[in-house]
Amino acid sequence: MVSSFTAIAAITCQFHERVVQDGDAQQLHAYIAFMNPPLKRVRVVLLTQAIGPLDYRLPDGMNAKPGCVVMVPLGPRKLPGVIWDEDIFGDDPVDAKKLRNVLELVECPPIGKGLRRLVDWVADYYLTQHSAVLRMVLASSAAFTTSGTITEYRRTGLEPARLTPQRAAALDALEGAQGLVRELAAEAGVSDNIIRGLIKAGAFEPVTISVDTPFPEALPDFAAPQLNAAQQTAADAMTSAVREGSFTTFVLDGVTGSGKTETYFEAVAEALRQKKQILVLLPEIALTQPFLKRFEERFGVEPATWHSNMRSTQRRRVWRAIADGSAKVLVGARSALFLPFANPGLIIVDEAHETSFKQEDGVRYHARDVAVMRGRFERFPVVLASATPALESRHMVAIGRYKGLEIPSRFGAAKMPEIKAIDLTVDAPERQHWIAPTLLKALEERLDRGEQSLLFLNRRGYAPLTLCRTCGHRFQCPNCTSWMVEHRLVRRLACHHCGHVMPPPEECPECGEADTLVACGPGVERISDEVNRLLPEARTIVATSDTLWSPEKAAEFVARVESKAVDIIIGTQLVTKGYHFPELTLVGVIDADLGLEGGDLRAAERTFQQIAQAAGRAGRGEKPGEVFIQTRNPNHPVIAALVAGDRDAFYDAETEQRKSAGAPPFGRFAAIIISSEDEREAIEAARAIGAAAPRTDGMYIYGPAPAPLAMLRGRYRQRLLVHAQRSVEMQAIIREWLGGIQFPRSVRVGVDVDPYSFL
Ligand code: ADP
Ligand code: ZN
Repeated sequence: MVSSFTAIAAITCQFHERVVQDGDAQQLHAYIAFMNPPLKRVRVVLLTQAIGPLDYRLPDGMNAKPGCVVMVPLGPRKLPGVIWDEDIFGDDPVDAKKLRNVLELVECPPIGKGLRRLVDWVADYYLTQHSAVLRMVLASSAAFTTSGTITEYRRTGLEPARLTPQRAAALDALEGAQGLVRELAAEAGVSDNIIRGLIKAGAFEPVTISVDTPFPEALPDFAAPQLNAAQQTAADAMTSAVREGSFTTFVLDGVTGSGKTETYFEAVAEALRQKKQILVLLPEIALTQPFLKRFEERFGVEPATWHSNMRSTQRRRVWRAIADGSAKVLVGARSALFLPFANPGLIIVDEAHETSFKQEDGVRYHARDVAVMRGRFERFPVVLASATPALESRHMVAIGRYKGLEIPSRFGAAKMPEIKAIDLTVDAPERQHWIAPTLLKALEERLDRGEQSLLFLNRRGYAPLTLCRTCGHRFQCPNCTSWMVEHRLVRRLACHHCGHVMPPPEECPECGEADTLVACGPGVERISDEVNRLLPEARTIVATSDTLWSPEKAAEFVARVESKAVDIIIGTQLVTKGYHFPELTLVGVIDADLGLEGGDLRAAERTFQQIAQAAGRAGRGEKPGEVFIQTRNPNHPVIAALVAGDRDAFYDAETEQRKSAGAPPFGRFAAIIISSEDEREAIEAARAIGAAAPRTDGMYIYGPAPAPLAMLRGRYRQRLLVHAQRSVEMQAIIREWLGGIQFPRSVRVGVDVDPYSFL
């Protein structure tokens, strides 16, 4: 036990001390050192939050260096942690006599130096703890357990003697399938017991598989396309950076349908040839399935994937394969960014302008920015691909920090769609309708021609607000400052902030009147109703995170649209990016003004990006596309720029505005969010923070004030906003400021550096 353990330690940590050396004197020294070993003290970052790094003693024979995963004692508990570089936390040596021994060295590749520096940077920049960041690195029990086997089942070809209709259906559905009992049951739509019965009857046989089944190798030259000149130039720049292993951040800026994916696939191919690992970050898990298909067409196999909906056996398999370097390509959501890649050589952030790369709870980090830092610490190129790059990214290109690569036109014969505004004050829909006559006519034309259309409205559900016609009562979430949103398809009212749901009441809870509830305003379901009423022959589909909540659902959606079983898609921002439907020739934006309301820092930019992306779904094949934007303000700069197709004019004006306001990327913000279940306590804590606010040149502090989302998940919220010039060491000042104040345990104080949400 002990000996195999030390052997593993020696191998995994590759830390061999040479005791025997040339010469007698040296041998003697070595002998003395051996008899009086120096105290081996290590600093360990525990995965448990709220416990800072602690010092432990490394027992004799245990060879461990920074990065090694260990189990250590804390009180009566045995906890996982990682040996860290001591200089990070400054010198605060604990009395040697008080040190407890590290209990165990875990059999797992050590966290490399580059990734350790990234964890340090994230903890420092986003004002969070090492432990919180490390938990994203060691994001699977695979980090602490040895490999194992699981039993799956597959068909034997035998028919059971007793063949009930359910059994027959299951056998049909599971032809060629293999999986755990519960997976097979889910796939066939039957209970676990039906499957167990079939196993007993001999219709299925067990297959023992290792959870460490290797991933098949992607083939760099499986089906390489012929690139056009602009694509080739961009691809060359990226492939040479991959080959050289140099840190460069590329902003791959190409209009929708220009072939950005095909182009960055060349960089992926080069990294594969160099035997390096590649990470592709996607903003939504709904986009994974079509991406996997495309990847397989290009490279012959599907890549590994990483997202929050994975089963633990899948997580284990992927985590291991990433850590030992055997999985070469990983496609994932933002959390994949922290996995311990053994040999990373390229990160692609696709749709890099998407705000879903910003994590809003736990560690509040921006995956796009962290990806760039990872490339910097581990020396490899990072590609930010987008048809509408974030203003921040464009600015970095302008000042020469990032390298811009442009693909200015659509691939092949496809042209950019024609964009027109519909002035709702003139071309008005009927009362209680939201589709203007001009848009309706365009939809009819597409139906006649057998082409597809997309209606975009960034509002889930049927109606954003429900009220009582008699007394005016509005349905509010009991836990949040927000309205309950009606979802008619599933017959529920739901809070989009905390997930609270309730059945639509028969009568008003305030005045008791029956049948008086009315829906106010439209959501996608209501637009779908309107289309079905006005164009009864049209086959429609509602596409939102409610209907496309898993990769499988998303794949089903794509298959239906591709097989032309759908005429009109009604969707939120979820369907405005990534998808390539060649028969889709019309896009209607139901309410372009929606995103411009509220007016946070990025409202104009986000609206521009969303509408440009939605418009980008039209006319991607041979047939030309047409886009209608419904608005009450056709002269608004955002709408005008979209109609004129003048992206640069919009960006330039927006950049000017940000500059004069000292807003990002010219200045910086940080939000301090204080919350408690007790309103008074939240207010008092916020006041204490406000009262202790430091005075620094070039730094302004606003608040405290109740947050716009004054209550969230049952907690009262207060906010302060810090606005600083770039020269100010904002994080250091905030750390010192907040570190000097004591809060009751029931108060949570969080800092959001570079915030995207101002709620
Ligand atoms: P983007 O990611 O910029 O929106 P895509 O990569 O999806 O664009 O390309 C749009 C369409 O054009 C896709 O069907 C893609 O396969 C095709 N395409 C792009 N470049 C090429 C190429 N060089 N050869 C063949 N097909 C291409
Ligand atoms: Zn709520």
